[in-house]
Formats: sequence, C-alpha cells, structure tokens
Amino acid sequence: MTTAPEIETDEPGQTDGAPDAAPAEAAADSPAHWFGFTRIAPAEKAARVRAVFDSVAPRYDLMNDLMSAGIHRLWKAAMIDWLAPRPGMALLDVAGGTGDIADRFLDRIAARETAPQDNGRAIVCDINAAMLAAGRDRRLDAGRVGAVSWLCGDAEALPIADGSVDAYTIAFGMRNVTHIERALAEARRVLKPGGRFLCLEFSRVVIPALAALYDRYSFAVLPRLGRLVAGDAEAYAYLAESIRRFPDQDRFAAMIQAAGLEQVKLRNLSGGIAALHSAWRI
Ligand code: SAM
Repeated sequence: MTTAPEIETDEPGQTDGAPDAAPAEAAADSPAHWFGFTRIAPAEKAARVRAVFDSVAPRYDLMNDLMSAGIHRLWKAAMIDWLAPRPGMALLDVAGGTGDIADRFLDRIAARETAPQDNGRAIVCDINAAMLAAGRDRRLDAGRVGAVSWLCGDAEALPIADGSVDAYTIAFGMRNVTHIERALAEARRVLKPGGRFLCLEFSRVVIPALAALYDRYSFAVLPRLGRLVAGDAEAYAYLAESIRRFPDQDRFAAMIQAAGLEQVKLRNLSGGIAALHSAWRI
C-alpha cells in the first residue's frame, strides 16, 4: 500500500499538502521533450545530455565546487546522513559521474567506531564513459583502490540484476534522464525488498526573495563561470534551464510513489535550491 509523501523541511516557507498528479511522459511539458529550454524529440535527449558531460568531465569536480561555493558537499553529506550507511551494504549510485557519492558512502562506513569487517561496496553507474574515467583517475590519484566498481549504463535500463542492491542513490542525475518514470521503475526493480531509494536533485526555491537572487545567479553568472572554467557556457546554461524544467518537490514525490516505491519523504535543502527524496522498496 502506498501512502502520501511526508514532507520534512530544514527551511521556513515550505508548503506541504497533497502532491499534484504525476505528469505522463507523453505530455508535451514532460522533461523528455526538453533539453533545457529547447524543445526536442525525446530520442535526441540522451545524446545531447551526453555531449554536455563529455565536454565538462575533466573540470566537473572543480566546477561543482565553484558554482555552488562548496555547498554541494553539504547537500551530499545530508544525503549520506539520511542514508545512514552500514557495514555490508551494497550501494548502486546511478548517474554517479566521478564517484563522489560512492566515496562518501564508503568513507562513512569506514569511519564507524566499531571497525567493520565488511566495508560495503559501491557500484557507480553512469551513461558517460568520460565522467567515469575522470572518477577512476581521481581515485587512483588519491591512492584509493577497490570497493568501487564502475559501470557504464543507462539509468533507464540498468545493467544490474533485479533485487540486488540495498540502496539506490542518484545525485543531480534524475534531471538528465529522458524518461523519469523509466528510471524510477528501474530503481525499484534493482532494489532488494527493504531497500532504500534516495535522490538528491535541484528543485524549486520556496523562499521568494531567494528565488529572484538565485535566478539572476543561474542565468547571468553560471554560464559565464562555465565559459571561464570549463570552456563551455552552453553546458551551464543547460544546467540552469534543466533545473527549471524538472518537476517540483511535490510532483517528483508523486512520481516516486507512482513508481511503486513507498514511504516517500522529502527534505528541502538551502531553501529548496536542492531537495532530497527518500523512499523504500517494501
Ligand atoms: N552524481 C554525480 C555528482 O553528484 O557529482 C554526477 C552528477 S552529474 C550533474 C549528472 C550525471 O548524470 C553525469 O555524469 C551524466 O553522464 C549522468 N547521466 C545523464 N543521463 C544519464 C542516464 N540516462 N543514465 C545514467 N547516467 C546519466
């Protein structure tokens, strides 16, 4: 049985209440039809998204720190806090890029007071080989080996067995998939019964004064920063636009529930600039 999403917030200004109905992918306003603010055929989207991340992969980690002033680290820490990794846990981090979430997951288990026998394992799955290569290189440079497997694959058709992982995470990836419903169905499929789903994604700012400022930053500053640091203004214009096209907190919660995941909860981070959604496969 599914229940209405429970809404938690760390910020004032959050409105709660019943979520809107999840939009059908076929609807003209579905993210499948949009690459940022450009209308496209759904079949084109994956290639265009891939080109964005091919272009930014070598400077992706640096850009993340610069454009968020390091705040993405706090958001990711909040995701790991909520996940509460435990020894022996198998994590699948989808759209895992350079493996940031996987590293944090493994570090959290290793830092437990009782020295774990089994530190857990993480699979980083991403559609973009350049992002995975950047992550592998970063780990090798840091002298980290083992415990992470790198898998090139699509969130909409995961090359992973049914019911095989304890946790499915996706950070700043759901916005990029063509068919959100398919990615959510895959999340449910690969989770073991009792497994945990956690999504960190940019969302809708719930504090009006912050929304105006954030818009100016997104559309005026971000693309310039992208041009300067990553040599690609368009990739960062896409970032700002794709955030606006992604379903808001409540609509996304309803989509998770519609995919058959249960006990859906959400938390706003930094006034809704980002949001965490949690659910379980029962
Ligand atoms: N999770 C990492 C993080 O938080 O730093 C990377 C996030 S990055 C903004 C988005 C990632 O989604 C990119 O690495 C991109 O290649 C990946 N991606 C986009 N579409 C995907 C898909 N359909 N399946 C799997 N990965 C996808």
